[in-house]
Amino acid sequence: MALIEIKNAYMGYEGKTVLSDINLKIDEGDYVCIVGENGSGKTTLMKCLLGLLPVQSGSVTFGCGLKQNEIGYLPQQTLLQKDFPASVSEVVLSGCLNKKHTLFYSKEQKETAAKNMELTGIYTLRKRCFRELSGGQKQRALLARALCATHKLLILDEPVTGLDPKAATEMYALIKKLNKNGITIIMVSHDITASVNNASKILHLSGKTYFYGTAHQYLHSDVGKKFMITDCPCDDCRHRSAEVK
Ligand code: ADP
Repeated sequence: MALIEIKNAYMGYEGKTVLSDINLKIDEGDYVCIVGENGSGKTTLMKCLLGLLPVQSGSVTFGCGLKQNEIGYLPQQTLLQKDFPASVSEVVLSGCLNKKHTLFYSKEQKETAAKNMELTGIYTLRKRCFRELSGGQKQRALLARALCATHKLLILDEPVTGLDPKAATEMYALIKKLNKNGITIIMVSHDITASVNNASKILHLSGKTYFYGTAHQYLHSDVGKKFMITDCPCDDCRHRSAEVK
Protein backbone atom coordinates (compact mmCIF):
# COMPACT_ATOMS: atom_id res chain seq x y z
CA MET A 1 0.00 0.00 0.00
CA ALA A 2 1.21 3.52 -0.83
CA LEU A 3 2.03 6.02 1.92
CA ILE A 4 -0.01 8.63 0.02
CA GLU A 5 -2.40 8.05 -2.86
CA ILE A 6 -3.90 10.96 -4.78
CA LYS A 7 -6.81 9.93 -7.01
CA ASN A 8 -8.57 12.09 -9.62
CA ALA A 9 -7.90 15.09 -7.41
CA TYR A 10 -8.81 18.67 -8.24
CA MET A 11 -7.25 21.25 -5.96
CA GLY A 12 -7.69 25.00 -5.70
CA TYR A 13 -9.66 27.80 -4.15
CA GLU A 14 -13.21 29.07 -4.30
CA GLY A 15 -14.10 29.58 -7.93
CA LYS A 16 -10.63 28.58 -9.13
CA THR A 17 -9.10 25.18 -9.86
CA VAL A 18 -5.28 25.20 -9.79
CA LEU A 19 -4.51 21.49 -10.21
CA SER A 20 -6.67 19.15 -12.27
CA ASP A 21 -7.04 15.39 -12.23
CA ILE A 22 -3.91 14.55 -10.26
CA ASN A 23 -3.24 10.82 -9.95
CA LEU A 24 -0.13 9.60 -8.19
CA LYS A 25 1.25 7.40 -5.44
CA ILE A 26 4.06 8.17 -3.03
CA ASP A 27 5.63 5.08 -1.49
CA GLU A 28 7.38 4.66 1.85
CA GLY A 29 11.02 5.67 1.50
CA ASP A 30 10.46 7.87 -1.57
CA TYR A 31 12.22 11.21 -1.92
CA VAL A 32 9.91 13.33 -4.06
CA CYS A 33 10.79 16.80 -5.29
CA ILE A 34 7.96 19.05 -6.44
CA VAL A 35 9.16 21.55 -9.03
CA GLY A 36 7.48 24.03 -11.36
CA GLU A 37 7.27 27.72 -12.03
CA ASN A 38 5.83 30.24 -9.57
CA GLY A 39 2.06 29.92 -9.43
CA SER A 40 2.08 26.34 -10.77
CA GLY A 41 0.38 24.99 -7.63
CA LYS A 42 3.20 23.57 -5.49
CA THR A 43 1.96 25.26 -2.31
CA THR A 44 -1.65 24.37 -3.12
CA LEU A 45 -0.72 20.68 -3.35
CA MET A 46 1.26 20.88 -0.11
CA LYS A 47 -1.69 22.51 1.68
CA CYS A 48 -3.95 19.66 0.55
CA LEU A 49 -1.45 17.05 1.81
CA LEU A 50 -1.24 18.81 5.18
CA GLY A 51 -5.04 19.06 5.45
CA LEU A 52 -4.95 22.88 5.41
CA LEU A 53 -7.04 22.99 2.22
CA PRO A 54 -9.74 20.45 1.26
CA VAL A 55 -9.53 18.88 -2.21
CA GLN A 56 -12.27 20.19 -4.51
CA SER A 57 -12.97 16.65 -5.70
CA GLY A 58 -11.21 13.30 -5.81
CA SER A 59 -9.20 12.08 -2.84
CA VAL A 60 -5.95 12.14 -0.92
CA THR A 61 -5.56 9.03 1.24
CA PHE A 62 -2.84 7.95 3.63
CA GLY A 63 -1.61 4.38 4.09
CA CYS A 64 1.05 2.55 6.13
CA GLY A 65 -0.50 3.85 9.37
CA LEU A 66 0.28 7.49 8.55
CA LYS A 67 -2.04 10.06 10.11
CA GLN A 68 -2.29 13.61 8.79
CA ASN A 69 -1.28 15.10 12.17
CA GLU A 70 1.89 12.98 12.09
CA ILE A 71 3.46 14.74 9.14
CA GLY A 72 6.57 16.78 9.91
CA TYR A 73 6.43 20.12 8.13
CA LEU A 74 9.25 22.58 7.52
CA PRO A 75 7.66 25.78 6.18
CA GLN A 76 9.49 28.36 4.16
CA GLN A 77 11.54 30.61 6.44
CA THR A 78 9.74 33.77 7.47
CA LEU A 79 11.16 36.83 9.22
CA LEU A 80 9.15 35.92 12.31
CA GLN A 81 10.79 32.47 12.48
CA LYS A 82 14.23 34.00 12.04
CA ASP A 83 13.75 36.27 15.04
CA PHE A 84 11.95 33.86 17.32
CA PRO A 85 12.87 34.88 20.91
CA ALA A 86 13.29 31.38 22.38
CA SER A 87 16.07 28.89 23.00
CA VAL A 88 16.90 26.29 20.37
CA SER A 89 15.55 23.45 22.53
CA GLU A 90 12.27 25.33 23.11
CA VAL A 91 11.84 25.80 19.35
CA VAL A 92 12.56 22.10 18.71
CA LEU A 93 10.30 20.93 21.56
CA SER A 94 7.37 22.94 20.19
CA GLY A 95 7.33 20.44 17.31
CA CYS A 96 5.98 17.83 19.77
CA LEU A 97 2.77 19.81 20.29
CA ASN A 98 0.99 18.50 17.20
CA LYS A 99 0.03 15.31 19.04
CA LYS A 100 -0.46 16.25 22.68
CA HIS A 101 -1.22 19.70 24.04
CA THR A 102 -0.15 19.84 27.67
CA LEU A 103 1.13 22.56 29.96
CA PHE A 104 4.50 20.85 30.45
CA TYR A 105 6.54 18.71 28.12
CA SER A 106 6.74 15.03 29.08
CA LYS A 107 9.99 13.13 29.58
CA GLU A 108 9.28 11.28 26.34
CA GLN A 109 8.82 14.55 24.41
CA LYS A 110 12.09 15.92 25.82
CA GLU A 111 13.88 12.73 24.78
CA THR A 112 12.41 12.97 21.27
CA ALA A 113 13.60 16.57 20.97
CA ALA A 114 17.10 15.66 22.25
CA LYS A 115 17.33 12.73 19.80
CA ASN A 116 16.35 14.96 16.87
CA MET A 117 18.79 17.69 17.90
CA GLU A 118 21.54 15.03 17.93
CA LEU A 119 20.42 13.78 14.53
CA THR A 120 20.54 17.25 12.98
CA GLY A 121 23.83 18.21 14.66
CA ILE A 122 22.53 21.05 16.85
CA TYR A 123 22.48 19.39 20.30
CA THR A 124 25.46 21.45 21.50
CA LEU A 125 23.56 24.62 20.51
CA ARG A 126 20.41 23.69 22.45
CA LYS A 127 20.74 26.41 25.12
CA ARG A 128 21.54 29.18 22.65
CA CYS A 129 18.95 31.73 21.62
CA PHE A 130 17.41 30.64 18.30
CA ARG A 131 17.72 34.08 16.71
CA GLU A 132 21.49 34.12 17.30
CA LEU A 133 22.10 31.04 15.13
CA SER A 134 23.41 31.15 11.56
CA GLY A 135 20.93 30.56 8.72
CA GLY A 136 22.07 26.95 8.30
CA GLN A 137 21.86 26.24 12.05
CA LYS A 138 18.36 27.77 12.20
CA GLN A 139 17.18 25.54 9.35
CA ARG A 140 18.64 22.45 11.09
CA ALA A 141 16.82 23.46 14.29
CA LEU A 142 13.55 23.84 12.36
CA LEU A 143 14.18 20.47 10.71
CA ALA A 144 14.67 18.91 14.17
CA ARG A 145 11.37 20.58 15.16
CA ALA A 146 9.60 19.06 12.14
CA LEU A 147 11.08 15.64 13.00
CA CYS A 148 9.48 15.81 16.46
CA ALA A 149 6.10 15.49 14.72
CA THR A 150 6.88 12.40 12.66
CA HIS A 151 8.56 9.04 12.23
CA LYS A 152 7.41 8.67 8.65
CA LEU A 153 6.99 11.75 6.45
CA LEU A 154 8.63 15.16 6.16
CA ILE A 155 7.24 17.90 3.90
CA LEU A 156 9.86 20.56 3.27
CA ASP A 157 9.11 23.88 1.57
CA GLU A 158 12.25 25.18 -0.14
CA PRO A 159 14.53 24.24 2.77
CA VAL A 160 17.73 25.77 1.37
CA THR A 161 16.36 29.16 0.33
CA GLY A 162 18.61 31.90 1.72
CA LEU A 163 21.41 29.54 2.77
CA ASP A 164 24.98 29.93 1.54
CA PRO A 165 26.30 27.12 -0.72
CA LYS A 166 28.06 25.27 2.12
CA ALA A 167 25.01 25.36 4.41
CA ALA A 168 22.79 24.34 1.48
CA THR A 169 25.03 21.33 0.71
CA GLU A 170 24.97 20.32 4.40
CA MET A 171 21.19 20.64 4.47
CA TYR A 172 20.80 18.44 1.37
CA ALA A 173 23.18 15.86 2.91
CA LEU A 174 21.15 15.86 6.13
CA ILE A 175 17.86 15.40 4.26
CA LYS A 176 19.43 12.51 2.29
CA LYS A 177 20.56 10.90 5.57
CA LEU A 178 17.05 11.15 7.04
CA ASN A 179 15.67 9.58 3.85
CA LYS A 180 18.21 6.73 4.09
CA ASN A 181 17.06 6.24 7.71
CA GLY A 182 13.58 5.52 6.33
CA ILE A 183 11.80 8.88 6.40
CA THR A 184 9.84 9.70 3.25
CA ILE A 185 10.64 13.16 1.90
CA ILE A 186 8.40 15.51 -0.09
CA MET A 187 10.26 18.68 -0.92
CA VAL A 188 9.20 21.78 -2.84
CA SER A 189 12.24 23.14 -4.62
CA HIS A 190 13.29 25.70 -7.20
CA ASP A 191 16.65 23.98 -7.62
CA ILE A 192 15.92 21.47 -10.37
CA THR A 193 19.53 20.25 -10.64
CA ALA A 194 19.74 19.46 -6.91
CA SER A 195 16.28 17.87 -7.12
CA VAL A 196 17.34 15.50 -9.89
CA ASN A 197 20.57 14.64 -8.08
CA ASN A 198 18.89 13.89 -4.76
CA ALA A 199 15.31 12.79 -5.36
CA SER A 200 14.03 9.38 -6.40
CA LYS A 201 10.94 10.93 -8.02
CA ILE A 202 10.11 14.29 -9.57
CA LEU A 203 6.67 15.89 -9.72
CA HIS A 204 6.77 18.76 -12.20
CA LEU A 205 3.64 20.91 -12.18
CA SER A 206 2.97 23.02 -15.25
CA GLY A 207 -0.42 24.57 -15.88
CA LYS A 208 -3.06 21.98 -16.61
CA THR A 209 -0.55 19.13 -16.95
CA TYR A 210 2.10 17.53 -14.79
CA PHE A 211 4.93 15.05 -15.01
CA TYR A 212 5.46 12.41 -12.31
CA GLY A 213 8.17 9.79 -12.55
CA THR A 214 11.69 8.84 -11.53
CA ALA A 215 14.49 11.42 -11.78
CA HIS A 216 15.87 9.38 -14.69
CA GLN A 217 12.51 9.40 -16.53
CA TYR A 218 12.24 13.14 -15.89
CA LEU A 219 15.61 13.86 -17.48
CA HIS A 220 14.55 11.97 -20.58
CA SER A 221 11.06 13.53 -20.74
CA ASP A 222 10.15 16.53 -22.89
CA VAL A 223 9.47 18.74 -19.87
CA GLY A 224 12.69 17.62 -18.16
CA LYS A 225 14.80 18.25 -21.26
CA LYS A 226 13.34 21.73 -21.51
CA PHE A 227 14.18 22.66 -17.93
CA MET A 228 17.46 20.79 -17.40
CA ILE A 229 20.85 21.61 -18.82
CA THR A 230 22.78 18.90 -17.04
CA ASP A 231 23.42 15.29 -18.15
CA CYS A 232 21.51 12.48 -16.54
CA PRO A 233 23.56 11.47 -13.45
CA CYS A 234 22.47 7.81 -13.45
CA ASP A 235 25.26 5.23 -13.89
CA ASP A 236 23.72 3.71 -17.00
CA CYS A 237 23.59 7.02 -18.88
CA ARG A 238 27.11 7.97 -17.76
CA HIS A 239 28.44 4.75 -19.27
CA ARG A 240 26.62 5.37 -22.49
CA SER A 241 27.77 8.99 -22.86
CA ALA A 242 31.37 7.84 -22.16
CA GLU A 243 31.07 5.32 -25.00
CA VAL A 244 29.80 8.00 -27.39
CA LYS A 245 32.79 10.24 -26.60
P1 ADP B 1 3.35 27.94 -6.26
O1 ADP B 1 3.51 27.45 -4.84
O2 ADP B 1 3.73 26.90 -7.28
O3 ADP B 1 4.04 29.24 -6.50
P2 ADP B 1 0.57 28.37 -5.50
O4 ADP B 1 0.05 27.04 -5.13
O5 ADP B 1 0.97 29.29 -4.36
O6 ADP B 1 1.79 28.21 -6.52
O7 ADP B 1 -0.49 29.16 -6.36
C1 ADP B 1 -1.16 28.58 -7.45
C2 ADP B 1 -2.24 29.53 -7.92
O8 ADP B 1 -3.23 29.66 -6.91
C3 ADP B 1 -1.74 30.95 -8.21
O9 ADP B 1 -2.42 31.42 -9.36
C4 ADP B 1 -2.17 31.74 -6.99
O10 ADP B 1 -2.40 33.07 -7.31
C5 ADP B 1 -3.43 31.02 -6.56
N1 ADP B 1 -3.66 31.10 -5.10
C6 ADP B 1 -2.77 30.82 -4.13
N2 ADP B 1 -3.32 30.97 -2.92
C7 ADP B 1 -4.60 31.37 -3.12
C8 ADP B 1 -5.69 31.70 -2.26
N3 ADP B 1 -5.59 31.63 -0.92
N4 ADP B 1 -6.88 32.06 -2.84
C9 ADP B 1 -7.00 32.12 -4.19
N5 ADP B 1 -6.01 31.82 -5.05
C10 ADP B 1 -4.82 31.45 -4.54
